[in-house]
Amino acid sequence: MTARPAPSVVDGSAAPGAASAGPQDLPSIDRLLRQPGASALVAEHGHTLVAGEARALLDGLRRDAVTGALARGAVEPAALDAALKRRVQGRLQPKLRAVLNLTGTVIHTNLGRALMADAAVQAVLATMAAPNNLEYDLASGGRGDRDSIVEELLCTLTGAEAATVVNNNAAAVLLTIAALARGKEAIVSRGELVEIGGAFRMPDVMASAGATLVEVGTTNRTHPRDYEQAIGPQTALLMKVHTSNYAVQGFTASVDEAELARIAHAKGLPLATDLGSGSLIDLAARGLPAEPTPRQKIESGCDVVTFSGDKLLGGPQAGLIVGRKAAIDRIRKFPLKRALRISKLPLAALEATLRLYLRPERLAQDLPTLRLLTRPLADIRATAEALCAPLAAALAPRFDVSVVELLGQIGSGSLPVERLPSAGLAAAPRERKGAGRALDELSAALRALPRPVIGRIAEDRLLLDLRCLEDPAGLASQLPALAVSLGVGGAA
Ligand SMILES: *Cc1c(COP(=O)(O)O)cnc(C)c1O
Repeated sequence: MTARPAPSVVDGSAAPGAASAGPQDLPSIDRLLRQPGASALVAEHGHTLVAGEARALLDGLRRDAVTGALARGAVEPAALDAALKRRVQGRLQPKLRAVLNLTGTVIHTNLGRALMADAAVQAVLATMAAPNNLEYDLASGGRGDRDSIVEELLCTLTGAEAATVVNNNAAAVLLTIAALARGKEAIVSRGELVEIGGAFRMPDVMASAGATLVEVGTTNRTHPRDYEQAIGPQTALLMKVHTSNYAVQGFTASVDEAELARIAHAKGLPLATDLGSGSLIDLAARGLPAEPTPRQKIESGCDVVTFSGDKLLGGPQAGLIVGRKAAIDRIRKFPLKRALRISKLPLAALEATLRLYLRPERLAQDLPTLRLLTRPLADIRATAEALCAPLAAALAPRFDVSVVELLGQIGSGSLPVERLPSAGLAAAPRERKGAGRALDELSAALRALPRPVIGRIAEDRLLLDLRCLEDPAGLASQLPALAVSLGVGGAA
């Protein structure tokens, strides 16, 4: 090599401090790939991925070098090897990851809703890699229908005559309205025109289904005569929607399903109810707030009841449609059904989950959603007490940690005003000045852990509700990494 040209500010090779490196200090891609660390990566992962990351790494370093922001140490062979390894590992890390839900909301839509029972996980595994009788009738050797996998179970559990299943409850509602009221009118109370998170709005769903929404009553009060007066030659459907994520309180009136069914059936019209969550069991009998069941709605005379698979039912994402045979047959045969159908993996999980309901005495053990919702407060508090000192040690001296009583919720639109007494840990910044920033930093550090921990910030504290932490080791094992990332843990 000839002597280097004098560093110049103009071409970017001049470094403002003696500690910075210039672009000329960076190796070529080929040289970088021949380094020991890099060649080990190539041996493990192949040339394509590693060379791509090496190029991106060097491009980034070159940009820093040009602005004089590249430390000398960063161009050392060992540092380059380490940086390349981090990039390659980062690229291979899945984006969808398991987290710890310490938000206090048990069925959290943003965190994947219900956890699958062991039986459901096993059923999915068994169905994934082997052919199966998804649409094959083993008795006759002819074509079968995927609905038949769960129809009988759903009828047993809800008292319905027939059942069909689609991709999610939004699809169930869309399909029901389209099949029963496309090109016609559907009547809904103004008190029930719900919006569910993620742009599911009843008026828009009606429009997408090709039905004309006829609103009746007012926000707080709707009476039987409001429905009766709205029924005309174009009416095809009466619809009731469970106000799952809000409550209308005070001077209110609504028409229940039994009364609505009488009004609808007197005119030869079907009544559909969207339950949203819908529990297959009596939650009040388990010490939880009551939630309407599909069985009650069927008994009240509803022709169609729709509900979610991954809310209180505790299964996979799915939309369940149960009801009278005539109505379900129309829904099943409607062409849109094919576009909304459930796939085999959720169907396997759903079947296994529904079978758990055949053994109600064991359900609180076998179904994670119910197990978490009915977890004894003393148990949650004991977990909090066991983790308090380790977390305090990890966060000292920046945060004070204490065991606190908390109020959680079921989530996913179930029982929005009911709270679940719970317990957990609160971390409060010791310095009042900059407390907000300290809390943001702590919650970011928790989210950056190998198994991200999701809590919530309230009243100047970071709260970790421990209802959903059944294995304390999930948090305890990550505390050293947390302390390192926050640069604390002096008392540890
Ligand atoms: C949650 C909910 C839906 C949507 O169900 P998904 O399974 O999320 O598609 C529809 N209607 C009501 C009343 C709901 O609570």
